[in-house]
Amino acid sequence: MTDDRHDETGYQPLRPQAKGLGEFLAPVAGFGVTFASMFKPTVTEEYPRKKVAPQGRYHGRHQLNRYADGLEKCIGCELCAWACPADAIYVEGASNADLPENADAAPGTLDADSSAGARISPGERYGRVYQINYLRCIFCGLCIEACPTRALTMSNDYELAGNSREGMIYEKQDLLAPLSEGMLAAPHPMAEGTTDTDYYRGDVLGATQAQVDWVREHRPDDETLAGAEAVATGTRPGPASRQHELRPDAGPGEAEKAAGAAAVGAVRAPAGADANVPAVRGSEPGTPEPGGTGRGTR
Ligand code: SF4
Repeated sequence: MTDDRHDETGYQPLRPQAKGLGEFLAPVAGFGVTFASMFKPTVTEEYPRKKVAPQGRYHGRHQLNRYADGLEKCIGCELCAWACPADAIYVEGASNADLPENADAAPGTLDADSSAGARISPGERYGRVYQINYLRCIFCGLCIEACPTRALTMSNDYELAGNSREGMIYEKQDLLAPLSEGMLAAPHPMAEGTTDTDYYRGDVLGATQAQVDWVREHRPDDETLAGAEAVATGTRPGPASRQHELRPDAGPGEAEKAAGAAAVGAVRAPAGADANVPAVRGSEPGTPEPGGTGRGTR
């Protein structure tokens, strides 16, 4: 095709046509890109062996947060479920009086403030059932905007895959923030002299001695007692909140195993397991979390 012909047909090239040596090399010019790339460092991501952290504001797996003394922030209001455009969230709230140790109490004899002192959250109610269906979730973040207590946030964890529909429905024990060192496992009373407003304002910075004593009386074998007592007596600083994190990088063998486990889906908490044990998907409920991550070995 020549410029003469262009003139005949009225075709006007938008780019200036190469002349001389440029016209001669034009057919192989594309190889220049290949040649230049040969000397650049490899950028292949070695997933799943090495995970690449997404941007800080990435919308990943949800997390239900805790206050510094271990109580849950979720009050079971269901606003997140109402805000969800994909109908992916299911919440059932319950009164804090509706705790296992009060199961034998006569109807009407308990209210939120007389539930033997035990609470899952400050205030009247807590989230008894909390489910997110990740086959429906579109990660829009409207749920976390709707949450009045900042109980619900989104982590950077993007490893959300499974091979069964059931495994993609994350339960409360899968979503709860891991207990930090120094937090006291719920249920237990609120910090003495405080209201739920004090909690919302961030005035509760750790478990108190009275809370520790209450748990020691009711659950003397609780593993969180020692750490919480150290906070209560001032020998260690108050706990910082923890977040479900990306699992650590793994060696070649471990990586393939981890990827296989992720594909198989979640290991569910056995019936009757304590919903407040910071169980993680892919590990047995209550097992320590290796590497300080919230995802166990995943
Ligand atoms: S996560 Fe927030 S919005 Fe959803 S039920 Fe709990 S407190 Fe309400």
